[in-house]
Amino acid sequence: MRAVGCHLSVSKGYLAMGKQALAIQGNTFQFFTRNPRGGQSKPIDMADANALLELMRANDFGPILAHAPYTLNPCSQDQKVRAFAQLVFEEDLEKLEALPGTYYNFHPGSHVGTGVEVGIQQIVNLLNKVMFKEQKTIILLETMSGKGTEVGSQFEELKAIIDGCLYKDHIGVCLDTCHIYDAGYDIVNDLDGVLAHFDAVVGLDRLKAIHLNDSKNPFKSHKDRHEKLGQGYIGEDAFKKFINHPKLRHLPLYLETPNELDGYAAEIKWIRENTMK
Ligand code: FE
Ligand code: FE
Ligand code: ZN
Repeated sequence: MRAVGCHLSVSKGYLAMGKQALAIQGNTFQFFTRNPRGGQSKPIDMADANALLELMRANDFGPILAHAPYTLNPCSQDQKVRAFAQLVFEEDLEKLEALPGTYYNFHPGSHVGTGVEVGIQQIVNLLNKVMFKEQKTIILLETMSGKGTEVGSQFEELKAIIDGCLYKDHIGVCLDTCHIYDAGYDIVNDLDGVLAHFDAVVGLDRLKAIHLNDSKNPFKSHKDRHEKLGQGYIGEDAFKKFINHPKLRHLPLYLETPNELDGYAAEIKWIRENTMK
């Protein structure tokens, strides 16, 4: 069965998230590795991690997705912020070795005026410091909306980061539907064209995960405001085509829509009911 899930809180531990996912008919989930605005990370509880792995095996889970904090910015002009990004990345990658096969998704960064090229180089530098040959985690670059000076709103930028990376086996892309629509890729009227473009620039084999979100703002707004599925500018029909597209059907879906657990349950149900057999 296709892996579908939503964003959950890590506050009660790993096994608790697995149980919560199951309770809403999910078979994967996303969580923040620590407070999204930064902060300390707790040491890993191996018994809890192993209990989650057991639950995942027993219930046909897809890979889970760990999301880095928003404050992680490898291309800040502030050396302290860059050092923090490295520290967080190192700690998170070390912890995630306890959950082999997990995806680690991060926002590539905001260059805040130095320009996209310098930004890309700084992101590459960080990745080449923190990644290691034997790591069991796949790092995902998230497609961004292009708000402010965000790097990663154009497929070419993601490709340049991947090209600079030493350990290409451990890197991929997470496509956020709200973000790419906001960035100016028209997945409503030309999904085939967008996917062909992604394939030509990055390669569809690099695409590992989908953040499934509608958008509160019209096409190409560069605002990054998520909406519930079918209630935004992307709309229900486009999502039906999106989730059933032959080039995307195998990919895990993670909801980051503005919902509580019951709202997520309804969206997961909608996805399962609208998935063509
Ligand atoms: Fe994100
Ligand atoms: Fe996202
Ligand atoms: Zn977003």
